Amino acid sequence: MIRVAIPVEKGDHLSISYTEQTWGTARRRYHLAQELLLCCCERCKDPAELGTLYSAIRCRSGNCEGYLVPDNPLVNLNTRDDASNEQYPYSGYTSWSCLLCGSSKQPQEVYQLLKRIESDIKETGEMDFELRERLLSRLEGEVLHPNHYFLTELRVDLAQTYGRVGPEGLTEISDKRLERKMELCRQVLALADILFPAESRVRGMLMFELHESLAEETRRGADKGDMNLLQLKHKIQESQHLLTGAEKMLSSEPEMIPEGEIAVEVKRRILDQEASQMNGSTKNVPLSQTKCVSMGM
Ligand SMILES: [Zn+2]
Ligand SMILES: [Zn+2]
Repeated sequence: MIRVAIPVEKGDHLSISYTEQTWGTARRRYHLAQELLLCCCERCKDPAELGTLYSAIRCRSGNCEGYLVPDNPLVNLNTRDDASNEQYPYSGYTSWSCLLCGSSKQPQEVYQLLKRIESDIKETGEMDFELRERLLSRLEGEVLHPNHYFLTELRVDLAQTYGRVGPEGLTEISDKRLERKMELCRQVLALADILFPAESRVRGMLMFELHESLAEETRRGADKGDMNLLQLKHKIQESQHLLTGAEKMLSSEPEMIPEGEIAVEVKRRILDQEASQMNGSTKNVPLSQTKCVSMGM
């Protein structure tokens, strides 16, 4: 069964993804080329990836604060100037130029840099939160554009790990960490709205994480008495809105995978909410204290 992930109008062009939408253009196009597919969609054509600079790297020329993007993201494997058989899955076969000062780099250089960063990221263990946060802040803006897909991948991992993996559950993590978890979710969801509105699995999971975190924040605020009624109401509304969004995103996930388990839990909570509204109950159940399904991280 095929269904549309975002609303479409009669006559709209429909597209289907054969690769990971959370990757940058060179990486997606390299992956697609292995399947003999050459994509020329709007996102692939735009060196700035719909204005997000999702693959951009920081210029190192003098004091320049600009970012380099590929000169021609559509150079294909069989049309490249480079006659060697070397492959550059993270840079493509094009030179890269700074949007501010115009200085450029060859594809090999860009590829080597990204390969090094990738191995630095892989070396950090899933549980070493501090090390991952330090790496993220070292790379963010100084080496890669803050929206870069390597950083987005790190943010997705951290957002799904805080309060889920390790000795501290969502109700035990510090206020600061809870706030950070929400910030990470929001950063990725804002980018996802532009770059991969139809990537429902990542979006659905992050919506669920943000919903849970907001519910926990609301519970803490109510316990401490440092939120007024209006603030509490807004938080609850936002949390419920995210739950509805997560349901929409995850509704087609099979139950045997973690995303499907979350989808079942989301549905149960929506039914609970509807039942309590019909009973006229105003009781706010702290959702993060209810049964939490395994995240399969
Ligand atoms: Zn494309
Ligand atoms: Zn520059």
